[in-house]
Amino acid sequence: MEGERTVLLRSGEVKVRVRRSSRARRIRLVMLPRVGPELVIPDRTSGRTIDEALETFTPWLERTLARMRPDALGLARPGVAWHGGEAVTLRLVEAKRLSAGWSDGALELRAPDREGAATALERWYRDAAREALAASIELQAPALGVAHTSLVVRDQKTRWGSCSSRGTLSFSWRLLLAPSWVLDDVVCHELCHLRVRNHSQAFWSLLAEHRRTADARPWLRAHGPEVSTYLPIDSIGMP
Ligand SMILES: [Zn+2]
Repeated sequence: MEGERTVLLRSGEVKVRVRRSSRARRIRLVMLPRVGPELVIPDRTSGRTIDEALETFTPWLERTLARMRPDALGLARPGVAWHGGEAVTLRLVEAKRLSAGWSDGALELRAPDREGAATALERWYRDAAREALAASIELQAPALGVAHTSLVVRDQKTRWGSCSSRGTLSFSWRLLLAPSWVLDDVVCHELCHLRVRNHSQAFWSLLAEHRRTADARPWLRAHGPEVSTYLPIDSIGMP
């Protein structure tokens, strides 16, 4: 039971030290300098309870580790939102109905409370992402001679974009948090799939010929975990 457990995160595997403590009243996960994550458990905690606790703590662990990386973007910073990789100042205004919009160079969120403000921010991200994606498609599709049937913006946890056989292009709104060249390259990738469905040599040649930016995959590999675990409420901060 005691010793070490391996937890599978989106960014890879991580070892969690498990330590029994007679003084511990409840299970907690702490991040220790140089040691890493440690799960402190009360005596007589069953193996199954440990597994359940690790599952519960996984999102926190994922976010905390993403933030600790030396090249972290620092997305989870109160008071700022993100648009095309740029920090945008947030202003919170108390209001009954949720809304979000630009005002004096800041993004103003109107909501009754913190949770409402986070909801308003996520809606804004989705709308702004749709706008940025549509503009990028419009810019890049003519050169490829392709047309999509519809554009879907969602919160895909495992992929940044996809292309259905019916010509629907789907993207994660989280691409808006990334620099705009990353979004452009992901869009170009999916547009190329409208011509070549698979990842054959022909596909990569087509992409290499048409991409207007650097290859976004290294950036997404480095920052993907932080981008995909960011929560709009991180930007709102404490009351
Ligand atoms: Zn692909």
